[in-house]
Amino acid sequence: MFNLENLVRKNIKELVPYSSARNEFSGVDGIFLDANENPYGNLNRYPDPYQTELKKALGNIKAIPIENLFLGNGSDEVIDLLFRIFCRPGVDKALTFSPTYGMYQVSAEINDIELIHEPLNQNFQIDFVSLKLRLHDQNLKLIFICSPNNPTGNSIYQIEEILHNFSGIVVVDEAYIDFSPEPSWSMRLSEAPNLVVLQTLSKAWGLAAIRLGIGIANPQIIKYLNKVKPPYNISKRNQEAALEAIENHIDFENAKNQILEQKKWLKNELVNLKSVKKIYPSDANFLLVEVGNAELFYNQLVERAIITRNRNKQIPGCIRITVGTEIENQKLVMAIKELEK
Ligand code: PMP
Repeated sequence: MFNLENLVRKNIKELVPYSSARNEFSGVDGIFLDANENPYGNLNRYPDPYQTELKKALGNIKAIPIENLFLGNGSDEVIDLLFRIFCRPGVDKALTFSPTYGMYQVSAEINDIELIHEPLNQNFQIDFVSLKLRLHDQNLKLIFICSPNNPTGNSIYQIEEILHNFSGIVVVDEAYIDFSPEPSWSMRLSEAPNLVVLQTLSKAWGLAAIRLGIGIANPQIIKYLNKVKPPYNISKRNQEAALEAIENHIDFENAKNQILEQKKWLKNELVNLKSVKKIYPSDANFLLVEVGNAELFYNQLVERAIITRNRNKQIPGCIRITVGTEIENQKLVMAIKELEK
């Protein structure tokens, strides 16, 4: 049975969080002599530590109540915070399904946590029968499921079974969900108190530079994320940039649709090329492409100043291609055709 208080590390439960000046007084009017700020300038004041205005706007657009939202300095920050809240260094474990996003491993190592890698099957889906044996390990605290998965591109379909059979935290990383026809798990929070959904403004929103990740979970989990985060983890400039993008969300929809159109075009072109052996199904803004000699293919494209991601070590013979602009995609296809001559 899921019991959040039993899962959270003792030191985190007992932690008295840093109380910033803006925590103690959050009004907008007054003479502010409380935070040792410089009284001069435009960016002289610390930003809202809980990003309330931005959360309201995001909550509106995503139909998620503000108390279910946490914002991080990229979703990478949320991944790290989850390790810190739930996993005792050197004792607890986490689990993910390979091949997948590399930061789960890096973050686990930084926190001295063993990350178990269960292999995805031939269709890059989870083998629930073999996983089931691991779910009762008392020291297994976190399961990371990336859906749509990076670098394979497909959505994962066994999430419900895992949520209902595991009493630790299930993190569904939806970095690419805006490109996907599948619904977000954030709409099903009420069914699963142990669910944490990660989203980001780095992909479909086109805001990778501002580092804005989103954690979506029940308010008790959000409370712990807020407790351990650095006090002002999202800068004022970045909060403003995100708000502006949300106000202009029509631009976001247009850019996203263009990327999806281009993805179709690119797939149709690539599939006819001699050097392309297979294109895997993708619900994301990238294609996993089997090309045979991936090292050579990757290097030959680099020589032509076209940079793809060589995933040969994770999936032999494969590179991952992000969908670019119309011109970029045309240049890629032309370059491959020339290489084939
Ligand atoms: N999750 C996945 C699956 C990703 O691919 C990435 C970035 N490549 C991230 C999380 C991190 O995103 P952010 O920019 O929000 O830190």
